[in-house]
Amino acid sequence: MKGKIHSFQSLGTVDGPGVRYIVFLHGCNLHCGYCHNPDVCHGEYKEYTAEEVFRQVKRYRTYFGKDGGITVSGGEPLLQAEFVRELFTLCKKEGIHTALDTSGSLWNKDIEKLVDVCDLVLLDLKMTDEESYQAHVGCSIQAPLRFLDELEARSIPCWIRHVVVAGLNDTEENIGKLKTLTKNKACIQKTELLPFRKLCIPKYKNMGLPFPFEMYEETSEETINRLYRVL
Ligand code: SF4
Repeated sequence: MKGKIHSFQSLGTVDGPGVRYIVFLHGCNLHCGYCHNPDVCHGEYKEYTAEEVFRQVKRYRTYFGKDGGITVSGGEPLLQAEFVRELFTLCKKEGIHTALDTSGSLWNKDIEKLVDVCDLVLLDLKMTDEESYQAHVGCSIQAPLRFLDELEARSIPCWIRHVVVAGLNDTEENIGKLKTLTKNKACIQKTELLPFRKLCIPKYKNMGLPFPFEMYEETSEETINRLYRVL
């Protein structure tokens, strides 16, 4: 089957372990205030079969080393779960490590089959309470928490990722809530705190869209380091 793909990044180093081939899938079901990929969500895309993408991935295999592999990101890959499952199945047959970068906001039979061919899930826990999820993300916090429970039940390794926005959630209290939400989950290998950045503003301007979090300041490294100590 064909997937709707916004773009590829051949040698990524921040979305999962090692050097990775990143596939950005088109489209998203959420509207996070800090989204730095409005072009991926709303812009143009091309269609590729899983086999065509797999052939591209294989060309970079020698760069992956023992830790690297493929990461499928977006947008929201869960919207094209069947396509991603097909692609990951091809990769796993060749021994290529598969990582899924997701908001965890959806769950259905296709997604269930997809997570079974994921070696790692990068799960964005975007906020730490229901009100903030509804206001700044566009779904209930119960959705990613349920997703995390499903990963735990299947023992699928998971990295939690949480964007820290100065003036919104850069407090010790917030990180304390994040700790509480993720405690007693053996599937979680690590938690990453990511600083809010505004490099995406030109993208919003070019697309004629307002950047919802324009009023917030970028988050400093000192703040991230301080909050890591709370974690
Ligand atoms: S889930 Fe990701 S791609 Fe979708 S709106 Fe949120 S930050 Fe953007």
